[in-house]
Amino acid sequence: MKKILLGVCILSVVAAHAQNQNAAELAKMKPEMTEFWDPEVKVVTPGESPMQAPSDAIVLFDGTNESLVQNWANSKGEAPGWSVADNCVTVVKGTGTIQSKAQFEDYQLHIEWRSPAEVNPESKSQGRGNSGIFMQERYELQVLDNYDNRTYRNGQAGSFYKQYAPLVNVCKKPGEWQTYDVIWTAPRFKEDGTLFLPARATVLQNGVLVQNNVMLLGPTEYIGIPKYKAHGAGSLVLQDHGNPVSYRNIWIRKL
Ligand code: MG
Repeated sequence: MKKILLGVCILSVVAAHAQNQNAAELAKMKPEMTEFWDPEVKVVTPGESPMQAPSDAIVLFDGTNESLVQNWANSKGEAPGWSVADNCVTVVKGTGTIQSKAQFEDYQLHIEWRSPAEVNPESKSQGRGNSGIFMQERYELQVLDNYDNRTYRNGQAGSFYKQYAPLVNVCKKPGEWQTYDVIWTAPRFKEDGTLFLPARATVLQNGVLVQNNVMLLGPTEYIGIPKYKAHGAGSLVLQDHGNPVSYRNIWIRKL
């Protein structure tokens, strides 16, 4: 018992001494010693609203056919078969996915999407307004009409398909425009091709947090368990799932 008490006393003396030392060091410091000026933080001009591209963004689609043809291709590298009208681009069933010509790793993405206004009462679950946005060609952020339309929770709008359900269902009615704002951190691989750090994502849908810094388990799989395979930068890919889903105002900032 005496030994324990002695130990406690010694620890208290050591702690008090360290505290006095810290206080003495702090007294020698000036405020400017922890103020850093260089390099100066880069100036970026924001858009007129958070929806609009800031000055350092790459605009991937501005509503025109020229912008679509310049920045996007189908999976064969040809001009996309999707239709452009009223400042948006719409999936044309059977023409396949479209992908950005530029490739990306880490980024901030803004994209707006709209499920078809006309809802076939026969179409349910995954059959209603299905499309998707693939990060680096592999990781699908689901686009689906889940307004009054249930499906498996890790396959609904705002999910990373079959990996992470959205935190909430914040879907608007079919026919209304919705937004996704995504902060994407690419996975890192070691030289031998094995995984070093998994991909991470934060997503806001219509301004509401639906994915909070989740760690992807691997590329999206329809059947089976995801498994990472080393890769570099990749395109942004928009899915043709047979439903006439529309997109507009797509911009990205490399991080
Ligand atoms: Mg999909």
